[in-house]
Amino acid sequence: MTIQEQYELLEKTVRAYNPAADFVGIRAAYEYAEKAHRGQKRKSGEPYIIHPLAVAQIVAEELKLDSESIEAALLHDVIEDTQATHAEISKIFSPTIADLVEGVSKLTRIQYATKEDEQMENLRKMLIAMSKDIRVILIKISDRLHNMRTMEYQSPPKQKQKSLETMEIYAPISHRLGMQRMKWELEDLSLKYLDPVAYEEIITKTEAKRPEYEVFMGRMQEQMSRRLDEMGVKHIIYGRMKHPYSIYRKMFAQNRSLEEIFDLFAFRVIVETVGDCYNVLGVVHDLYKPILGRFKDYIGTPKPNGYQSLHTTVMGPDGIPFEVQIRTREMHEVAEYGVAAHWKYKQNGQGSGTEGRYEWVRRLLENQEGADAEEYIHSLKIDMFADSVFVFTPNGDVQNLPAGATPIDFAYAIHSAVGNRMVGAKVNNRIVTLDHPLQNGDVVEVLTSKNAKGPSRDWMKIAKSNEARSKIRQWFKKEKKEENIANGRASFEAELKHCGISMKDITDPEVLHGILKKVSYASLDEMYAAIGYGGFTAQKAVSRMQGEIQRVAKLHQAEKLAAEAAEAKEEAAPPSPAKKKAKSEQGIVVEGLDNCLVKFSKCCTPVPGDEIIGFITRGYGVSVHRADCPNASPEKRSAPDQAGRWIKVSWGTDTNDSYPTTLEVVCKDRSNLLLDISAALSTTNSFVLGIHSRSTEDEFAIFRIEVRMKDSKQLSALMNKLNQISGVLKVNRPAG
Ligand code: MN
Repeated sequence: MTIQEQYELLEKTVRAYNPAADFVGIRAAYEYAEKAHRGQKRKSGEPYIIHPLAVAQIVAEELKLDSESIEAALLHDVIEDTQATHAEISKIFSPTIADLVEGVSKLTRIQYATKEDEQMENLRKMLIAMSKDIRVILIKISDRLHNMRTMEYQSPPKQKQKSLETMEIYAPISHRLGMQRMKWELEDLSLKYLDPVAYEEIITKTEAKRPEYEVFMGRMQEQMSRRLDEMGVKHIIYGRMKHPYSIYRKMFAQNRSLEEIFDLFAFRVIVETVGDCYNVLGVVHDLYKPILGRFKDYIGTPKPNGYQSLHTTVMGPDGIPFEVQIRTREMHEVAEYGVAAHWKYKQNGQGSGTEGRYEWVRRLLENQEGADAEEYIHSLKIDMFADSVFVFTPNGDVQNLPAGATPIDFAYAIHSAVGNRMVGAKVNNRIVTLDHPLQNGDVVEVLTSKNAKGPSRDWMKIAKSNEARSKIRQWFKKEKKEENIANGRASFEAELKHCGISMKDITDPEVLHGILKKVSYASLDEMYAAIGYGGFTAQKAVSRMQGEIQRVAKLHQAEKLAAEAAEAKEEAAPPSPAKKKAKSEQGIVVEGLDNCLVKFSKCCTPVPGDEIIGFITRGYGVSVHRADCPNASPEKRSAPDQAGRWIKVSWGTDTNDSYPTTLEVVCKDRSNLLLDISAALSTTNSFVLGIHSRSTEDEFAIFRIEVRMKDSKQLSALMNKLNQISGVLKVNRPAG
């Protein structure tokens, strides 16, 4: 067929379904394209114009589209491959045709890489979203179909790459748009290059059996047709082999050989009414035994792409199963040509009544109400993904973002760390501002820096995605949290120090769990954050913790006492060298507690050698009393509010040089009494801190002497000396 003949065939094809088409415009488009591509050759060596002509032929033959689509198909490669521009096409033909051509060119420019399923789905959506006018994607699919039909002239790597792309992107889009015929052909052609061995096997085997199959199919067709004629059901019936890729998938999915494949054959019965569909189903199930679980009513429940049919698989004679699909003519058109069929109905003026049934098409198209046919086609737009924008990462991944998304949304969609370190962005290799709205197909690159200060509050207003906004919010909360933790920790540590508790006591794993429970925080950091934030105070934290520290200490004490008791029983046993020497604080050993703050009570001022007992104060460590101090009386020790707070303490081996203590000397007042007392203090080497005296009304003098004493022995010596002084009635150690 010459090029001229091919063009004439195109006109003839268009005239057959659209006699009123703009043949002047179509011829002009053909002549323009022919001139623009003149000198260019296809890989096959043929003049390039063969390709646009063939694409226009597919658009006409398969999809029966309008004049603009035919013209755009003829011109579809001129912007991409020749000197032609959008402006020129717009002027010579129309802005709409120029937009269609530009749209197809944009899709052509998209680069694909082999990706995982999710990426593929995003690529499909991106393609549809970029098409804006649905005719763009229809022309693009036609373009791809012709390229696949002529793929034999390409290099093997290119064949594989294009086939994979077709299988993953264009065939599923065709399916989604309801175009089964084109989908099948795209799949079969892709399979031919993706798995040539399997493809050849399927083709060879089915071809070899074709005469046999045709006899079988002819017989079945005749049986069914005769019964339907008897019943007066007007119908068209034809049988076909399943297409190679469909067989291939079944072989793989069921792990069977070609011979074992179920329903290799499918019959299609096309009738006038929906009622007839169910009548035919009854006939088929009456003639042949239906296979359980294989009946599907897609008339009652259409597929998401609008597909409607009754499907059933039955067992024919000789045990050969086959599938029967039953549908009305209208359902058939939609199944074969999808969205294009819907158009055809519009074009032929069948009114807007039919479109109500195609809910999915409705979702695809916008602005279709009340317009006449031509107008309607002009305004065909895809709004399926109108609220999304699809952009590429520099390595070809597709990100699906909300419409109007900015580089900020993109960065946070990649990773919050990318967003937090963003200092700028490039779109299609040009620096843009961070509020630059992204377009479908843009390649977006985020510029990051380790020294980035992090997001600014403004970003929250610029970002369009909830994801970005919530990540930015998180960043601020987290940043502040770190600040809060630092502040909270500082005040907590100060309070601990004030109460004589070391950090080690808190972080002791045995204690930590209990104290966190006491303060109701999951971790110290959380408690610090709360203190830093002001929701909790360090004082409260420490005082709540003390109880727990004491509880654990008491536990230890009990254990130790039990161990000592056990030891005492074995009198003969030598002291265990392994027994740890208890550490003391200011010469005081507190049972079970190391590094415990110790203070000596002012009321009884004990010195080494005195029998002593400890009292765990609220917040100020262990206060040491003499055992005979009224403040440590048995009644007090067993008082309910103090139970458990009295603790055994003893003098360690490493006592201080001296301890402050107080004596009270009651005397019959006389002159020089103070002088004699001073002499006694001096001869006993007592270090005097202070002497206070007062006289009573009945001429007694009471001296209160504060001294530092090494131990009770030195103290006794001093007390003896004082007692010997004339006029001294009593020497006391005050207590209580
Ligand atoms: Mn092309």
